[in-house]
Amino acid sequence: MAAIATLGSHCALQVLKGARDEGLRSVLVCERARESLYRRFAFIDEIIPVESFSEILADGAAAAALESSGAVLVPHGTLVAQMSKADVESIRAPVFGNRHILEWESDRAMKERLMREAGLPTPPAVAGPAEISGMTIAKRHGAAGGKGYFVSSSPAEYEKKRARLVADGVIGEGEELYLQEYIPGVLAYLQYFYSPLSGTLEFFGVDSRHESDIDGLARIPADAQVSSSLTPSFTVIANSAMVLRESLLPRVYEMGESFVEASARLVRPGMNGPFCIEGVYDDEARFTAFEFSARIVAGTNIYMGGSPYTALVYDEPMSMGRRIAREVRLAESSSRLDDVTT
Ligand code: AMP
Repeated sequence: MAAIATLGSHCALQVLKGARDEGLRSVLVCERARESLYRRFAFIDEIIPVESFSEILADGAAAAALESSGAVLVPHGTLVAQMSKADVESIRAPVFGNRHILEWESDRAMKERLMREAGLPTPPAVAGPAEISGMTIAKRHGAAGGKGYFVSSSPAEYEKKRARLVADGVIGEGEELYLQEYIPGVLAYLQYFYSPLSGTLEFFGVDSRHESDIDGLARIPADAQVSSSLTPSFTVIANSAMVLRESLLPRVYEMGESFVEASARLVRPGMNGPFCIEGVYDDEARFTAFEFSARIVAGTNIYMGGSPYTALVYDEPMSMGRRIAREVRLAESSSRLDDVTT
């Protein structure tokens, strides 16, 4: 019987509960500091305790335990945030989906290339601070969760805000930031699952994010905003559920499918498993994508009991974690585990 493993953070509870629901064994790689949290949940069959997640890498202290658990490792945002390309490649356990595409999520240039290949409209990049003329968002590389991002409208404002964040230790002195036009509108994070076993794309749900402290700033009157010296950041704190106007769905599927096709061309074996296209709807209901995540996103945690969209396809509660476990179970029973892992 196959097993599912993941790192103890981000969406580990959903992933391991999904494994249990599908009758698979669940294995958690858990930092000792968090063990007491995860021991509360009876669906976790095995805990591999570590001081740091890096112990699962090639010659790390926990690599052998993970390998001998026989589990498929489900990558999530914590793995992407903490591990380099070489780290991810060195993991000896099979990784669910396409481990090679995770680098395309972390590297801004590669990310843009894949989004262009998929034909997704993206916000224009701003070449450097000197070129800032309209509202521009400065972003950090990797899965930073929005921390340290800031908006400015002129080179001088950029330098002032950047210097403040460096002084506060939020961003590093020489840290390179990526500049992009800021698009106002309704933010939406589109969650998908692509099955290489059936060759079908499923739309799993959509969420919005609550970001601190930009959301808080929007709640105070304009005069107080103007006089505030705060440089608001975009740190993700929570997610909440959304449903889209039904007329937007054809484009949602179209974007997901072109992303899957583009990934298959650029980074074999393509975008297998869960992914998310992240962006904003403007006043014409046009979607501009500013990001993608090439693995399960934490926004799927909202739908542990299924989403409005999975309810249309499954006659049982279907979370993204459970869908992953189902794919592993089906792959194992048809001797196709190699098709769903790398
Ligand atoms: P990201 O790391 O790209 O997902 O961005 C984190 C947050 O920054 C998003 O959830 C948005 O609130 C905001 N954001 C990023 N890029 C843009 C953009 N081009 N226009 C508007 N908001 C953005």
